[in-house]
Amino acid sequence: MRRGAGLGGLLGRGALGRGTLAAITGCLLLTACGGVSGRPAGPGSAAPTSSPSNSAPAGELAIARNETRGDSVYPEIGDPLVDALHYDLDLTWSPDDDRLTATQRLTFRATGDAEEIPLDFNEQLPISSATLDGTPVGVTVEGNDLTVAHPVATDEQYELVLEYAGTPAPAPAPSARADFAQGVGWSITAEHETWTLQEPYGAFTWYAANDHPSDKALYDFTLTVPAPWSGVANGVLTSSTTEGGQSVNTWHLAEPASAYLVTVAFGDFQHTELESASGVPIQVWTDADGEALPGGTASTPDAIDWLERILGPYPFDSFGVLVVDNDSGMETQTMVTLGDSPYSLSAAVIVHEAAHHWYGNTVTPADWSDVWMNEGMAMYLQGMWEAEQEGIPVARKMDEWAAFEPDLRAAAGPPGAFDPTQFGDGNIYYGPALMWQELRERIGERRFFEVLREWPAGQANDTADRAEYLDWIEETTGEELSSFFDDWLLDRTTPARD
Ligand SMILES: [Zn+2]
Repeated sequence: MRRGAGLGGLLGRGALGRGTLAAITGCLLLTACGGVSGRPAGPGSAAPTSSPSNSAPAGELAIARNETRGDSVYPEIGDPLVDALHYDLDLTWSPDDDRLTATQRLTFRATGDAEEIPLDFNEQLPISSATLDGTPVGVTVEGNDLTVAHPVATDEQYELVLEYAGTPAPAPAPSARADFAQGVGWSITAEHETWTLQEPYGAFTWYAANDHPSDKALYDFTLTVPAPWSGVANGVLTSSTTEGGQSVNTWHLAEPASAYLVTVAFGDFQHTELESASGVPIQVWTDADGEALPGGTASTPDAIDWLERILGPYPFDSFGVLVVDNDSGMETQTMVTLGDSPYSLSAAVIVHEAAHHWYGNTVTPADWSDVWMNEGMAMYLQGMWEAEQEGIPVARKMDEWAAFEPDLRAAAGPPGAFDPTQFGDGNIYYGPALMWQELRERIGERRFFEVLREWPAGQANDTADRAEYLDWIEETTGEELSSFFDDWLLDRTTPARD
């Protein structure tokens, strides 16, 4: 996600201008607090709940197998019993009455033996039909928990089909950010268009998901809406037809994505096709009544080119920008979702969200305590890009950020053990960005950029936690960095900078 608009303002004012942040009441991640000597002991380093088996699903679905986990920060969301492999979402949007009608086909693997199947789904969308492997099955929904009354066995694969309909509503966000105010999940605009933003969770507001970053799955979408409106989602547009006044778009996402990286929008869109210098196809979807390439979206190929020079080949088959009516921005996989505002559509934010495709999307944190792995590097790369545009050394850009970073850390906690009620605050962005600059100065240009390129390339379509990442950096660089990372990720005060 891009940093909040309030933080953008912060840079201009050069002072912490937020007085409404919730009070910090001590460390909320006890295991992380206790881990200050040695490797930062993020709970993400817990053992996986499943072990590899010999019965990998055939063909394409094998890429979506994961070592699923429960979450240390938001344990009420997701369940490691389920390893979702493929979601087929057939969604019809009726703007006249704000009604979503859906058929969902979920293929999943059970990671253990259990009497029933837990998923995340909201009771606002009543389920009219449920089958498991073709047989009707009982389901109950309470709050945000869906339970399917059927036993499952370790490493067996199942297909759950649900039919449901209703008017989705966003869920409260665990954040103080202004652009989170309307909640997470499915949102409906005053014009009855729709969009979704769902980090750290919120997919459950419109489909039944294992709504956790450790579980990546493949997706197909069939999106139906009265023409001339159309539906946009992740991946590649595989067909587009209009029949009986209804527009039907099908989308296919060929690489697995965590639920927080899924996007769907219905609205009156136009789209423009672009291409990076290396041949990555790029689509920009935006309001049919506005400019075809609003804000900095025309520079999207330049953003991919610039990032490829630093990080190596773009890790997916396509890229896109989807412009919606909000004030946020999200790195939704292969189709970033950007609010229709000058800041969200700036070239800097496009660089940031594109950078997440290496840091966050192809390699994804296995636990929300490690969201700094996404935002620190995306922010550092954004800082490098901004410094280049301004004709200043990146070290000077980091000096500017260092002026306010201690206040962010004090307000929302250390980047590696943040206050769970302040998800996505500035602390997870700027502190880790400063940390990467310090590492760069410590290990030198050659090794630093090797680390930047080789980590996402080696972890393609996977998840990782801080223990795996930081151990790998130490092995790759030959440096002992335990106290360095501890200080930057877990201290409540900013470490001294060289
Ligand atoms: Zn971000």
